[in-house]
Amino acid sequence: MTDQLTAALAYAQENQGRFLEELIDFVSIPSISTDPLARPDILRAAGWLVDKLQDLGAKNVQIMPTPKHPVVYGEILEAGPGKPTVLVYGHYDVQPAEPLELWESPPFEPQCRGDYLYGRGASDMKGQMMTCFNAIQALEHTGGLGVNIKFLLEGEEEIGSPNLGQFVQDNRALLACDLAINPDTGMLGVEMPTITYGLRGLAYFEIRMSGPSQDLHSGLFGGTVHNPAQVLCELIAGMHDAQGRVTLPGFYDRVRAMDSDERKELARLPMGEAFYLEQTGVPALYGESGYTVTERVCGRPTLEVNGLLSGFTDEGQKTVLPAKSMAKISMRLVPDQDPEEVRQQMAKYLEAHTPPTVRWELIKHAGSFPSITDRQTPAVVAMSQAMEQVWGKRPVFKREGGSIPVVVHMQQHLGVESVVTGFGLPDDNLHAPNEKIHLPTFYRGIETMVRYFCILGEK
Ligand SMILES: [Zn+2]
Repeated sequence: MTDQLTAALAYAQENQGRFLEELIDFVSIPSISTDPLARPDILRAAGWLVDKLQDLGAKNVQIMPTPKHPVVYGEILEAGPGKPTVLVYGHYDVQPAEPLELWESPPFEPQCRGDYLYGRGASDMKGQMMTCFNAIQALEHTGGLGVNIKFLLEGEEEIGSPNLGQFVQDNRALLACDLAINPDTGMLGVEMPTITYGLRGLAYFEIRMSGPSQDLHSGLFGGTVHNPAQVLCELIAGMHDAQGRVTLPGFYDRVRAMDSDERKELARLPMGEAFYLEQTGVPALYGESGYTVTERVCGRPTLEVNGLLSGFTDEGQKTVLPAKSMAKISMRLVPDQDPEEVRQQMAKYLEAHTPPTVRWELIKHAGSFPSITDRQTPAVVAMSQAMEQVWGKRPVFKREGGSIPVVVHMQQHLGVESVVTGFGLPDDNLHAPNEKIHLPTFYRGIETMVRYFCILGEK
């Protein structure tokens, strides 16, 4: 261990009480991005971060407006051009706290009970951001940083980051970096450090079918007119084959195969069939044959019917032949699928299989690209080493079934991969009453980040 690392870890240890007090202060600001009345608190949280970044020695600290909530930016570039520049991503907004009556202590009056700090945003993600700030502070007080840091702290993550993509694109030069760190996910267990290296994308559609110009009497017209509900159901049924594979033409052409190494890593994850049976209550699982449940949830694309509507659905009965039917259908995408190409595949499928008895329309909703970070890049290897030094074991590598848009923005606009990780735990009650952060893991998170920045700086 270098002298600086020893000193920085000692500093982090000695200052745990102070770090906790700062976190409590930050969490007590109700920066709820979706609530228009909370706008002053959003600005207060942004101001709090400006003070914090300046306190860390950051330069060029600014509150940068977007059409809604501002981004806080700052930079510490003292390591110089020969050293890597790390973009630290964070979000200072939080979810609403309702239902308030289910909180054991008020959501914005953070309280320590046992090993936990309770409060909205304690884990998602004010505490997670603080692990980075605290680590930087420890290094700054013991000889300085071996890497350059830029901070990109947004206030709109909990409302879907509507302005961040444009912001990153508009500020490419300012945000230029070698890698990004995004500590907004968590660990699978208190003794299971976790790196998330893949995220699925999304392609969301609405299909509308129409037949007769109005609902018809099924006795007078049944047998002469094709029922749009039946047509839609048959089309949907044809979107999967007997092996659970999606049948849209070309759907798998761009899907990156998982090699044996990756499948071995994924097999280390603790979520097997029993986990999914227990979590869902279904009598049996379903999915594409030839893959484990873990692989199916994170490394393979899927197609789901999210909603179906047609005909008479009230109480009682009505012998109607409906004029219309509608379905909401979405696909989770994996690298290197492209949401626009998937739209074309869906259109081709509908063109090929819809009978001439109905008219159809395909409406596109949200779309986002999938992303993947190479597990062998120095940035990921460094995080893996730092975690192994703290926990005494290799982290598990996980691909997430959902999406994190900011990771894709970094990839597309800045050309950098993100190290997606974090020190939250599965039972932190994110977005729910009694959100909490496990303080021993929070302190381990700070230690991990100290070691991480040191390892990166040595390179
Ligand atoms: Zn978050």
